[in-house]
Amino acid sequence: MRACLERIEERNADLNAFTQVFAEPALSHASDADARQGAGETRGPLDGVPVAIKDNICTISGLTTCGSRILEGYASPFDAGAIERLHRAGAIVIGKTNLDEFAMGSSCERSIHGPTRNPLDPDRVPGGSSGGSACAVGANMVPGALGSDTGGSIRQPASFCGITGYKPTYGLVSRWGLVAYASSLDQIGPLARSVDDCALLASVIMGFDDRDSTSARRDPPALDGTRAELSDLRFGVPLQARSAIEGTKAQEPFERALKHIRSAGATIVDVDIPELEHAVSAYYIVAPAEASSNLARFDGIRYGRRAALGPGEGLETLYARSRSEGFGDEVQRRIMLGTYVLSAGYYDAYYLSALRARRLLKNHLDEAFAARPGCDAILTPTTPGGAFPIGALLGDPLAMYAEDLFTVIANLAGLPAISLPAGECDDGGARMPQGIQLMTPAFADDRLLSISRAIEALGPP
Ligand code: GLN
Repeated sequence: MRACLERIEERNADLNAFTQVFAEPALSHASDADARQGAGETRGPLDGVPVAIKDNICTISGLTTCGSRILEGYASPFDAGAIERLHRAGAIVIGKTNLDEFAMGSSCERSIHGPTRNPLDPDRVPGGSSGGSACAVGANMVPGALGSDTGGSIRQPASFCGITGYKPTYGLVSRWGLVAYASSLDQIGPLARSVDDCALLASVIMGFDDRDSTSARRDPPALDGTRAELSDLRFGVPLQARSAIEGTKAQEPFERALKHIRSAGATIVDVDIPELEHAVSAYYIVAPAEASSNLARFDGIRYGRRAALGPGEGLETLYARSRSEGFGDEVQRRIMLGTYVLSAGYYDAYYLSALRARRLLKNHLDEAFAARPGCDAILTPTTPGGAFPIGALLGDPLAMYAEDLFTVIANLAGLPAISLPAGECDDGGARMPQGIQLMTPAFADDRLLSISRAIEALGPP
């Protein structure tokens, strides 16, 4: 704990990974854990281990701001389900990490707390929206962190910071106490420096929770240390992923990673997932639609910040002013987009079309797994490129959205997915980490991690 706090002290002022650090209570919980363990007892598999928490996951400790002005000063009266489970396993919440406001973004630049920087090159973004968690792990400030992933927010920053990030199957980790962005896509998951560490954190936070109506009522998969044999495996690479990265920075590192995996004996085949071309469009209809509904609760009355009213100004003005002052531009853009695609007259054209594309995408992925012989996992680059310079995409929302090309697939289809470090890509002379993404069928998270261990053991391509 002391080593982590020292490292945070050294690096956080420059990197801005943490928005709050709970140094005193963390040290005191750590000495309790020491005392317990000295007496031959342990609370659980994470007894005494510091974990950083993305600031859209409710914790009784400190504030839960979601990086938004509208939640200024908001202190949650309860811990999220995942946090309760962490505590039960003995883990210690060391602090809260920065994010794009309400987890909307791919760069961790859109936060009232200012941008987080990439630990490998502070002029570049750490990715987002769980950029603070990825930076904290990548800079060795903590061994592990929790993030949330609605369209890639765990995997993309993991890829940008050279670490491992895992989004479990939708429904395996309770969303109770995760501030909702897009409820049919949101999932909490771990970021860490190895597959085993991700598996350990995930196994602690998974499990049925009747306070989340989408929580899976089944035993979570066992994520213990099995490692698959690569020569037994067939990996599917979507043809549409290959064409999407042709001529981009991601092509060379991805080809290199495939060669590396093939040379270890694995079979790599093409799969046809035509909807991949429409995945970003579908995601950026479904996610804002759900966000526009979820964010209606922030009205300036119940949570956080309330705008000032002049004499004679009424309730409508209070709502409108609180929301206009409280939400940042990107969040307002999403609320407007979402309200538009759900409105009478546009619902069928946009929202329903997006739901149809989502279903077709899921069907094609399921078919790729179920075919005979089917794929054991689907493999793509995690992102179309590496960490970009701070500010580079801020003025171009579509370019920012295009970052999510490969990651949104898993959320739309509810599949588990992981990003593993897989070498570097060349961005104008700078070498930045580049991840590969693996996906397996829903609830085959044990298979996903066991294949990931095999790829990790190969070493960098
Ligand atoms: N970048 C995506 C978005 O802005 C994904 C964010 C996330 O997974 N929370 O919506």
